[in-house]
Amino acid sequence: MTVGDVVRLVEDAAPSDLAASWDSNGLICGDPADPVQSILLAVDPVTTVVDEALSSGVDMVITHHPLYLRGTDCVAATDPKGRSIHRLVRAGIALLNAHTSLDAAHGGVAEALADRVGLTSTVPLEPDPVSPDQGIGRIGTLVQPITLRQLATDVAAALPDSAPGLLVGGDLDAVVERIAVSGGAGDSLLQQAREAGADVFLTADLRHHPASEHLENGRPYLLCGTHWATEWVGLPPLAQRLEEDARSCGASLKVQVSHIVTDPWVLRLSTGSDRA
Ligand SMILES: [Zn+2]
Repeated sequence: MTVGDVVRLVEDAAPSDLAASWDSNGLICGDPADPVQSILLAVDPVTTVVDEALSSGVDMVITHHPLYLRGTDCVAATDPKGRSIHRLVRAGIALLNAHTSLDAAHGGVAEALADRVGLTSTVPLEPDPVSPDQGIGRIGTLVQPITLRQLATDVAAALPDSAPGLLVGGDLDAVVERIAVSGGAGDSLLQQAREAGADVFLTADLRHHPASEHLENGRPYLLCGTHWATEWVGLPPLAQRLEEDARSCGASLKVQVSHIVTDPWVLRLSTGSDRA
């Protein structure tokens, strides 16, 4: 396979037509003609992930987040992003990203998160206008109703671990069944989750005022994971798909998923123990 072949496989898995208009998806650095035998998947194109790519000797890195969401006029090695570009180019490693395209796609981040929660009969929370069976977020039903407390416990166990863990807002003893999910920052989807009849909305990065004002009106109750954890779940299915798609083209591709936690937070301490 070449870098160009992998770009096409990722386009099949996460069509750029599904991406938001403000977004950036695609090849960030690398020569489409270069050969690729191994790929590293990660959420963020940060320094620790570049370190891992160099030490593991992969030919290509595919991240969820873009390196330059708003574009740039400088890739000099004078800041962390420019340094990453230089290190990758010198090592002959291509960098590609699939962001809101992968969020929305079949088998993408939203579907993977719904699968982790154990939802059935899922549909997009915000359907794509052209492909309404794909889109942002998913809403579906648990196999059987459970309490918010039990759901939170199950979801916490199903997500990869990072320091902040999972925050829960709502009536812990309430029985819930219909669950909406959206990986990454979900403030903007609170109203859609309510209008779709969700009992609970699992997302990340919820801020005090939107969350507090939302809960004043009752359901959906809120599960707030971390941005990294709620999006990382989309990587293992993508790894499997890329390896299978390469195999069906008669090529061999080794795709590994990074386990480096790229949430900014490395420690969570319970507060208030000093009550002197
Ligand atoms: Zn994100």
